[in-house]
Amino acid sequence: VRRRALGLSAWPPFLLAACSVAGPKDPPSDIPVLGISVGATPVFDGDRSVGGRPLRYGVFGSGLPVTLVFAGIHGSEPAGVDLALRFLESLAGDPRSVDRGTIVVAPLVNPDGYERRERWNARGVDLNRNFPAWNWDGSARGGPFPASEPETRFVLRLLERFRPTRIVSVHAPLGCVNWDGPARRLARALSQESGLPPREDIGYPTPGSFGSYAGRQLGVPTITLELSDRDLVDPEDLPRLVRTLLLAHRGARAPLL
Ligand SMILES: [Zn+2]
Repeated sequence: VRRRALGLSAWPPFLLAACSVAGPKDPPSDIPVLGISVGATPVFDGDRSVGGRPLRYGVFGSGLPVTLVFAGIHGSEPAGVDLALRFLESLAGDPRSVDRGTIVVAPLVNPDGYERRERWNARGVDLNRNFPAWNWDGSARGGPFPASEPETRFVLRLLERFRPTRIVSVHAPLGCVNWDGPARRLARALSQESGLPPREDIGYPTPGSFGSYAGRQLGVPTITLELSDRDLVDPEDLPRLVRTLLLAHRGARAPLL
């Protein structure tokens, strides 16, 4: 599947100006993802992976509500990164699609794992078991202590900085819409839009997961969008999945909880 390159030029100038680019725009350690450069994601606050790769995000709109979308916390699930980059591209191309509130998108949280197509970060930690939730126990490669990893702290800083009112974490390949916290109705709506079935219980324990921390501990409606494809999203499914992410934000105006 051929992909168009998404360069910095794809971002309208006012959007670039609105984003506080605090670091070098294209650090040499950046890596291309599926033909798209994550380096095109405009905001870099200095957060880096264990391997020194920049951790980036994009911001669209302003004010409340705030929806955070992030992907690639498991490096072995490129489909999520693929979708997040498509979502970024769609928002950059049509800024009016965010007509209220703010959408924050971090397309690749674990670039070191991504490059090796491994679930873990460069220290062998499962970042989705490394969050400071009450149930963290260090099992399942959860790290030596909660939030021990820079990639985990990057996500925590996004929570602190933007105080999202909704969160979507994109994974693969279980093919379902899982949720934590007060998000049952939101999950049902996203399930209808995406065609992926809602699933409250993923079927195995997830101590120290992001959903445990943000959804169940902080009480932020948190969706784990599990795509069916692992390596690349079927191009035919992309528009529907991009709409699903937009609905996660737009639905915030309706009483979906
Ligand atoms: Zn995953």
